[in-house]
Amino acid sequence: MKQNLTIALSKGRILKETLPLLAAADIVPAEDIYSSRKLIFDTNHDNIKLVVIRATDVPTYVEYGGADMGIAGKDVLLEHGGQGLYEPLDLEISKCKLMVARMTAATPVSGRMKVASKFVNVTRDYFARQGKQVDIIKLYGAMELAPIMGLADCIVDIVDTGNTLRANGLEPTEHIADISSRLVVGQASLKMKHRQIQPILDALATAIAERREEAAL
Ligand code: AMP
Repeated sequence: MKQNLTIALSKGRILKETLPLLAAADIVPAEDIYSSRKLIFDTNHDNIKLVVIRATDVPTYVEYGGADMGIAGKDVLLEHGGQGLYEPLDLEISKCKLMVARMTAATPVSGRMKVASKFVNVTRDYFARQGKQVDIIKLYGAMELAPIMGLADCIVDIVDTGNTLRANGLEPTEHIADISSRLVVGQASLKMKHRQIQPILDALATAIAERREEAAL
């Protein structure tokens, strides 16, 4: 008998690129996610449900078994720490970079640097690896504003085109990590539901490889 399987999806910009990939693996929501206020969706499979939640909550749901699998950006997974999760697939979507950025033409900082970010764990680890102690200021959005207002000397943030940085007089200075969306599976779920999860992983891996080949043509 097939067990129930729940997949947690990150809402926002990742979702748009996630749904076609899931469709290629024959998992399709039973109704339009965008025009619904629901948080949980049936699919074309009786036993598979989708939950659509904040990206930062995806690894937490999967870690504690509230969902069996999830899709989230590597930035979110690095910040979470990855405990209790397997990360078997790079979905190669929503690519961007995690970077340090500061005001263009800023003078060097004397003394302890103030860094604003929503990625406080990643930021602490990154500077600690360089032997630098920094003061981290947790923000929830609009990081670019912090150096402008004198709140911080630099920021750690996601950069895609770099337009947001440039528009606010900032420039990227250090590259921390390449980011893309990943599929994560709860360690307990993989053990208990391996026979159901493996075909989904295989179908997604095939879909990713096909997209890569198409893009190379
Ligand atoms: P850009 O101006 O193209 O460099 O985009 C930068 C802003 O878009 C950042 O402040 C991020 O919050 C957001 N962003 C860009 N790419 C992603 C992504 N793949 N995942 C999440 N947020 C992103």
